[in-house]
Amino acid sequence: MARVTRTVVVRSVKLSRKDFRVFVELEGIYKSMVEHLVLFAVRSNTTSFIRLKALKYRELRALHQLPSHYVYTACQDASTRAKSFLRLKKKGLAEKECPEIRNVNIWLDDHLWKPNGLTSVKIATHKEWVNVDFEPHKQYWKYINGGWKLASEAKIKLDRRNRQLVIYLTFFKEAEEYKPRSYLPVDVNENNVTILVDGTAYLFETDMEKLVLGYYYRRKSLQEKYDKLHGASSRVKKKVLRKLKEKKKKSDIRWKIANIVVRTAHEKQSAIALEKLGKKPANSMIKRVEDAQLRHRIFQASLKGIQNTIKEKAREYGVPVVPVNPRNTSKLCPLHSSHIAYDSSRVGKCSLGGELWHRDVVACWNILSRALRSNGSNAPSPAGLGVDGRLIPLASTATHDPKVLPKRLWARWKSLLQKTLCYGFEQNEAVEINGAYIFM
Ligand SMILES: [Zn+2]
Repeated sequence: MARVTRTVVVRSVKLSRKDFRVFVELEGIYKSMVEHLVLFAVRSNTTSFIRLKALKYRELRALHQLPSHYVYTACQDASTRAKSFLRLKKKGLAEKECPEIRNVNIWLDDHLWKPNGLTSVKIATHKEWVNVDFEPHKQYWKYINGGWKLASEAKIKLDRRNRQLVIYLTFFKEAEEYKPRSYLPVDVNENNVTILVDGTAYLFETDMEKLVLGYYYRRKSLQEKYDKLHGASSRVKKKVLRKLKEKKKKSDIRWKIANIVVRTAHEKQSAIALEKLGKKPANSMIKRVEDAQLRHRIFQASLKGIQNTIKEKAREYGVPVVPVNPRNTSKLCPLHSSHIAYDSSRVGKCSLGGELWHRDVVACWNILSRALRSNGSNAPSPAGLGVDGRLIPLASTATHDPKVLPKRLWARWKSLLQKTLCYGFEQNEAVEINGAYIFM
């Protein structure tokens, strides 16, 4: 059983001045507790939540008139902050002696809040329990109706301008891995994600390389421009950079592609076979990049990010993930085990059979055969095997080319589906793979 958690953010309705003032006061007390605790934790190098609580509980209880569990959550909050501050300090990245507490999210545990129906919560304060209605949205209902359970922890943040609370709810799900009937090989590389479904390769263009580099250069030129105008840490710069929405766009792509891959695997009751990436997964991609900082960013950003999202999504659906050795997966002919020579394009020629191969299709077939060989005992029956015992039907050139799905097609499926009639399904985002609709 794997526990999967997701945070869903909802906003409260506009609160009355009276209620909102209670939360402003609560935030003030909570903040001063966290400040006190963090200062103590950093100075005495006591970052363990248990230790903090043991040492500080009585003192804080005597000092503040808050429900006692706020001391617990403040200790947890402070412990997390102190730990990450000391980690930065160790790396020489923290200039100050003690972290500044600027953004406060009030941490709540099961004694401090409870759901009150589906669209409101009750929150314990220093005055009394306050009922807060919130505005549910589509995503929220998806979790409520999708078999997810509400976890006991939550966080709230004050939006002073709109007199609202921002409520961070945690949903969780326990999913059991099924026993796979087959494998779904997935090749993740800098510009696409390719999967092999029943002998047909589907190539989803992600353009990650372009995206990562594009953002890098845009960010860099903006930074230089604003640094010259307003100095290195200006608010204007931060605002402009935020407008790029770099993080969100990248994560959107990751989740969408992960959704397609995992739902396909789930439908086929397959295990996902992924290349085991090393510490430097984007080697080929960064060869052309001189800048050390950029290289670092790319390492972190794309390939592992996509793989991790696929793994995370797989846990949610109970889809097993099998790692395979990535060595030469795109260089060896899946039929002849001979070398495939590529010129500048992504299509290469087998040095023995002379047949042509698309690089990412080769990788998929090799990942599949490695997955089939890797765990003999647990291996599902190799349904892909042809009559002659080979995985791939010989002499069929069509199978060596992937079906290419450009990003504009799969990443904005919503608009496309308004034109396409997709009957019997409630979701409005879907991708069709081998006659089956995969929802996003
Ligand atoms: Zn060959």
